[in-house]
Amino acid sequence: MANHCSYCDTRRPTPTPEYPDGTKLMIVQGEWYEFCESCGNDPQYSFISSVTGEKATMAEVLADLESAVNVSLEGES
Ligand SMILES: [Zn+2]
Repeated sequence: MANHCSYCDTRRPTPTPEYPDGTKLMIVQGEWYEFCESCGNDPQYSFISSVTGEKATMAEVLADLESAVNVSLEGES
């Protein structure tokens, strides 16, 4: 993984307990999103649901995806 946040353009962001690789990666409708913890929680980069119109940060969208499909991301055991 490049460990490069696409939003704040930080390479190798400092790992955190929630983001041990520095960034997280998710795929939504074929688009790849890589983001660090601060961008993942930044409302500026929220997704808006086309169904409900609700806003969700990338971290929230990713959490929903993980719980919906119940899979482990690469690197997690
Ligand atoms: Zn970032």
